[in-house]
Amino acid sequence: MTRSGEGPRVGILGGTLDPVHCGHVRAAVAVRDALGLSSVLLLPSHVPPHRPHAPEASPFHRFAMAALAVNGIARLQANDDELRNAGPTYTADTLDRLRSRGLSPSQIFFITGADAFAEIATWHRYPEVLDLATFVVISRPGHDLGRLRERLPSLASRMKNADDAAGSEGPSIVLLDVSTPDVSSTGIRERLRRGESIGGLVPPLVETHIYQHRLYSSLSRRPHTESRQRAIFRLKAEATRRKTMTADRLHGED
Ligand code: ATP
Ligand code: MG
Repeated sequence: MTRSGEGPRVGILGGTLDPVHCGHVRAAVAVRDALGLSSVLLLPSHVPPHRPHAPEASPFHRFAMAALAVNGIARLQANDDELRNAGPTYTADTLDRLRSRGLSPSQIFFITGADAFAEIATWHRYPEVLDLATFVVISRPGHDLGRLRERLPSLASRMKNADDAAGSEGPSIVLLDVSTPDVSSTGIRERLRRGESIGGLVPPLVETHIYQHRLYSSLSRRPHTESRQRAIFRLKAEATRRKTMTADRLHGED
């Protein structure tokens, strides 16, 4: 449902997106539909503040993959706001920027998986960051919502389901059970390093981009190209055998 008369309702799905995968896309679509959002922006972060290692793929590739992932999906867009900054970017600063463009906290829906939200107390400008948007915490395979209240007791009173949140004062934390595939970027990078297929785990255009640019592994090739290579090798061997037979015939050794 799209609510009218309240101005735009903008969702943000931020993260390293290294690479973006079907779990991210499914989450964005599910929240878009459940909360009637005008748009959901997939927003790759520049240098992820909570991770010891920088992303493997460049900002350029991570943005390109986000754009390919939303291709043809209504009301999903890729956004390069965080990547355009030189230094690390923080969610709070991104939310400030959206507010300076005229969106109020009740119009901004920051989407995070339950795994990421469990670390909220370590985020830059916590707890103020929670006042800058409605936080939408979604379930993720292996990370259900049930234990969040226990884990973050000081925030338990702000946690609501979507219907209760609509009538409450001030920005709340909406807990939303969604069904997303059990996929992670870490798992995808590992599969690529092992030369395993990532079919069905990332959108098809993202898969093509990864192989075309050999991302995440210099060996990154579609697994089926191995058998194509074997076929080429077999044909070359066959051609050499024929040439040898012809040469032998010319020498009268038939
Ligand atoms: P990595 O393994 O590198 O941490 P990731 O798969 O967790 O990658 P991120 O870029 O870290 O992806 O995640 C961005 C946001 O999307 C986070 O809030 C995360 O919880 C959420 N998310 C990622 N995958 C899923 C999924 N399968 N279902 C629901 N939410 C997800
Ligand atoms: Mg993650």
